[in-house]
Amino acid sequence: NTFADIDLGDALNLNIRRCKYVKPTPVQRHAIPISLAGRDLMACAQTGSGKTAAFCFPIISGIMRGQFPQRPRGVRTVFPLALILSPTRELSMQIHEEARKFAYQTGVKVVVAYGGAPINQQLRELERGVDILVATPGRLVDLLERAKVSLQMIRYLALDEADRMLDMGFEPQIRKIVEQMDMTPRGERQTMLFSATFPKEIQRMASDFLSNYIFLAV
Ligand code: AMP
Repeated sequence: NTFADIDLGDALNLNIRRCKYVKPTPVQRHAIPISLAGRDLMACAQTGSGKTAAFCFPIISGIMRGQFPQRPRGVRTVFPLALILSPTRELSMQIHEEARKFAYQTGVKVVVAYGGAPINQQLRELERGVDILVATPGRLVDLLERAKVSLQMIRYLALDEADRMLDMGFEPQIRKIVEQMDMTPRGERQTMLFSATFPKEIQRMASDFLSNYIFLAV
């Protein structure tokens, strides 16, 4: 009934206390156990429902506790373990800020990359290493084309405000991005799709990107 009852790893549980989160919101109460159990998730949730924590907590916890193959080093391509896609620069910045607080002293590194800003600073930040990449679709495609980022080691994918991303015309970019993960061994990627609405286009995305998923509406 409280976050203290959910074992997310000591460092993350401590950060949650520091953020003064005590009781999970409804989307968190349902989404977190589903994700911790390793299942894919399609969640209908509005802004303000606490969905950022709902996808950040299982990702950070999973990376903190997981065993992953050694990632190539000394090359100019980085290999994040998790990707959080969001429609706008503002939302990406917000997610990044929250995720960084949750990841404090966990050893999990969070980096953000969005369009409408010079890419050089973002490239320097990326080159210092990244576990969780928060990105807008257009800027991420740019980074993939420059071979600055590889998605071959992605274990967690979260798509936030998917309906808004589609309204903004990002579907081709999103498909291109997800295709790059299809080299990941089957069943090793866990995907969470968040959307305020559930029109046909989102249903199609869910059936294309998720496997054997749980549907959650709060
Ligand atoms: P979100 O829907 O993720 O944008 O979250 C909306 C706001 O609620 C943000 O300011 C969060 O920091 C806050 N929040 C999310 N979950 C909780 C919680 N369990 N307890 C208290 N505040 C929360």
